[in-house]
Amino acid sequence: MKVTILGARGSIPTEGKDMLEFGGGTSCVLVESDDRAIFLDAGTGIINAPDIGNKSITILLTHPHLDHVIGLPFFPYISEKNRRIDFYAARTGDYSAYEQLDTVYTNPLWPCRIVDYPSDIRIFDADFPITVGGFTVTGIPSVHPGGGTVFRLDENGKSVVYATDYEYEPDKIGELIEFSKDCDLLLFDAQYTDEEFEARRGFGHSTVAQGMEVMKKSGAKNIRFVHHDPRHTDEFLREMERPIKSEAAAFARKDEVIIL
Ligand SMILES: [Zn+2]
Ligand SMILES: [Zn+2]
Repeated sequence: MKVTILGARGSIPTEGKDMLEFGGGTSCVLVESDDRAIFLDAGTGIINAPDIGNKSITILLTHPHLDHVIGLPFFPYISEKNRRIDFYAARTGDYSAYEQLDTVYTNPLWPCRIVDYPSDIRIFDADFPITVGGFTVTGIPSVHPGGGTVFRLDENGKSVVYATDYEYEPDKIGELIEFSKDCDLLLFDAQYTDEEFEARRGFGHSTVAQGMEVMKKSGAKNIRFVHHDPRHTDEFLREMERPIKSEAAAFARKDEVIIL
């Protein structure tokens, strides 16, 4: 299993020479096997999707907040005729997966619907477990305003858990720890410093210390922190990362590749 960080920024894309190391592209992680390419979220990071040849494409959406869907119209493969793309999102409130995209990509917010792009995109409500080639995809609800999904992908004895836009709550964290049990890689939302977390409870994001606790208690072998705050520069993020940095634990950087 190969994991590529395409977008590690949270909330809104950023730019500037002090944001180059961790990158300004919003949420998108590519998980590949020999014949499958699974994109986790479709933030602006998806615009720089690498060449995946003829691998079958699946997109799993955690939730339809703008930073997770705004890259979709410029996803290179959505403009390829005869390219099938399977898109899954869990129903969120009253919204089906189709409606989650259709409320953003419609007049007057956008000139056309996602299904009008040249590719053969098929949109499904996620009903777990989902089988994608050799992958088994499972999900649990996230702790986030408006809801969301934490995904786990298991393939060939390896596993990755994608817990972005997730707020640590003492009475709910046990479910995530159980869900992440012994995974090879945990991608965890650490948008906030401890002080920011206290000031922004209810915003739906967590901290480094909380992620390290989930790593330890779940037995996750590796952790990468994602959804970097748009106000945090490279220098600031390196400073946040410094106390926990090791081969197993680090902040996700744009274009980082992790082989599991
Ligand atoms: Zn987000
Ligand atoms: Zn969100």
